[in-house]
Amino acid sequence: METLKYLAGYPQHLQLRAHELIEQGRLGAMLSDKYGESHTVRSDALLRDYVQALKDRHLRKSVPLGKVIYDSKLQVMKHALGTHTRISRIQGDKLKASREIRIATVFRDAPAAFLRMIVVHELAHLKEAEHNKSFYQLCTHMEPDYHRLEFDLRLYLTHRDLGLP
Ligand SMILES: [Zn+2]
Repeated sequence: METLKYLAGYPQHLQLRAHELIEQGRLGAMLSDKYGESHTVRSDALLRDYVQALKDRHLRKSVPLGKVIYDSKLQVMKHALGTHTRISRIQGDKLKASREIRIATVFRDAPAAFLRMIVVHELAHLKEAEHNKSFYQLCTHMEPDYHRLEFDLRLYLTHRDLGLP
């Protein structure tokens, strides 16, 4: 069985299920049935408002947001599902951290649920740099369906890369 790069870290039975969906030509239909809802977060300004609103709801006390933009140079996998850089600067004797959030442009056209998932992912990085247990606890706190959405996002990216109908 050929490894699907987006799914490489998942258990065998889930990878098998993805292969079946592809071979049976059902992946595209499955995704559009489940994720028919698009979003209108089309610009960097709207993205910023969207990220800020989610942050206000769930992570009010964490560091202030820095720049928030769509970035066409980001590759989703290479940059581990989006990226996050910490920009620290000294202000007086306090170290102030602010965070820049860049979201790969592919999410501008992706279903609403996947944009929400990737923003939740990046917001969780405001508090937790690594993909560890407390990172994923933060993710599921903000989006209870986080794990299913991340898996389905990987199916979506697979489908898109393969250029399937
Ligand atoms: Zn990450």
